[in-house]
Amino acid sequence: MNVYDSGRMIDVLASLGFSVTEDPAQADLAILNTCHIREKAEQKVFSDLGRLREHKENRKSNQQEMIIAVAGCVAQGEGAEIMRQAPYVNMVFGPQTYHRLPEMLAQALRSVDSHKKQGRGVIDIEFPLEPKFDSLPETQRSQVSAFLSVQEGCDKFCTFCVVPYTRGAEFSRPVVDVIKEARHLVNLGAKEITLLGQNVNAYHGAAIHGQGEWGLGRLIRELAEIEGLKRLRYTTSHPLDMDQELIEAHRDVPQLMPFLHLPVQSGSDRILEAMNRKHTTKYYKEVIDQLRQACPQIALSSDFIVGFPGEADADFQETLTLIECVGYAQAYSFKYSIRPGTPGALMDNQVDETVKASRLQVLQDLINRQQLAFNESIVGTVQSVLLDRRGKREGQFMGRSPYMQSVTVFAEEPSLGEIVNVFIEEAHPNSLAGHLCNSDVMITAIPSVESKGQRVY
Ligand code: SAH
Ligand code: SF4
Repeated sequence: MNVYDSGRMIDVLASLGFSVTEDPAQADLAILNTCHIREKAEQKVFSDLGRLREHKENRKSNQQEMIIAVAGCVAQGEGAEIMRQAPYVNMVFGPQTYHRLPEMLAQALRSVDSHKKQGRGVIDIEFPLEPKFDSLPETQRSQVSAFLSVQEGCDKFCTFCVVPYTRGAEFSRPVVDVIKEARHLVNLGAKEITLLGQNVNAYHGAAIHGQGEWGLGRLIRELAEIEGLKRLRYTTSHPLDMDQELIEAHRDVPQLMPFLHLPVQSGSDRILEAMNRKHTTKYYKEVIDQLRQACPQIALSSDFIVGFPGEADADFQETLTLIECVGYAQAYSFKYSIRPGTPGALMDNQVDETVKASRLQVLQDLINRQQLAFNESIVGTVQSVLLDRRGKREGQFMGRSPYMQSVTVFAEEPSLGEIVNVFIEEAHPNSLAGHLCNSDVMITAIPSVESKGQRVY
């Protein structure tokens, strides 16, 4: 979502004459768009700010200004602290106010002019009542694979998570606005759209004719009608919000890719309860069974947290058992990180860092084995690949399979932005390679590898 938000900031600033530079020394304005989800991300903000400060001072010695801004969830959560620790920062604004960038920037520039030595910072970390999306200009950036935010915020309050405090309450954009933006992205060249939300399947946007609300499944069916839009994805979903309509969309909508990121966090019911996830492992497995019935070739991914307060060895073993049982195509995993202001931070049964580290290693080894097994099961099949970037070598292109795997292939110009059929010859831990093939017959991967008697693919 930060990638999407940064893009929208570029759109807002383009209307003021700004363009993007890769070289910080050239920047009149530098914006750090930040993430607060784990402590590590937060620490990175302060080290990056130190580097930007050097550029700012160099520019100053050449009589040039550099406005430094911190945006996103660290700004939202730690705005005052940033201004205290890094007084050279000119602007701090949260994820809900970036549509006000022109006013903030004007204010920051006035402040720099009137305090030549040290500008006084501008802080805007409100949750404004006016919907930010209504005030954003349409993007002019052409992307083969584009993000589209449909939902923001979260009302679930998992005890480890800072999102409800930094992104605010759940909000869904009206269906009409989402369709308008999707059409616009397709007109600019998008073949694939990933619908975004902190809790995207909790989507409940105002219906097209102002009659009630639509869920994500219905929205996906409507988006699939857009001519030229070949692929749809959505992320991130909560298991509790996988309703029947959405599961059926996986059965009925060919544009909806057979890959789903459905985080479970832990395989222990005791820990799931302490996390306030509001469901059991049994429920999660039932949802997955339903998804596999609706779309037999669907592949899954998840997030896992190890070392949540009170997690004993037995709980961790249950997480490994769940992973064995489900069989993932990939997954993200993290050591539990204490977030100030969340209930988890106040729990007195915190797990030792070394225990967290060794559990993470064991879990990641298992996930890596499953990922490689999944990638290997694709060898010898033909996959549709959306070529979205050039490779390092002449004539080499990179793209994504329906399962989000990175695929390398040699193709002729102009192939960028095309969906091509690729016969997969090689599987690596994080990628596939193959050659173009003209076959119209798609051979998709089917669950095949057995692990400890469980289905893995
Ligand atoms: N809404 C999604 C997750 C969004 S946050 C969901 O409910 O699943 C993305 C991921 O970051 C989470 O799935 C979780 O695995 C991880 N995460 C969030 N807070 C964390 C914390 N305090 N420590 C470690 N990982 C965390
Ligand atoms: Fe955070 Fe996701 Fe839980 Fe919401 S549902 S509190 S975003 S982990």
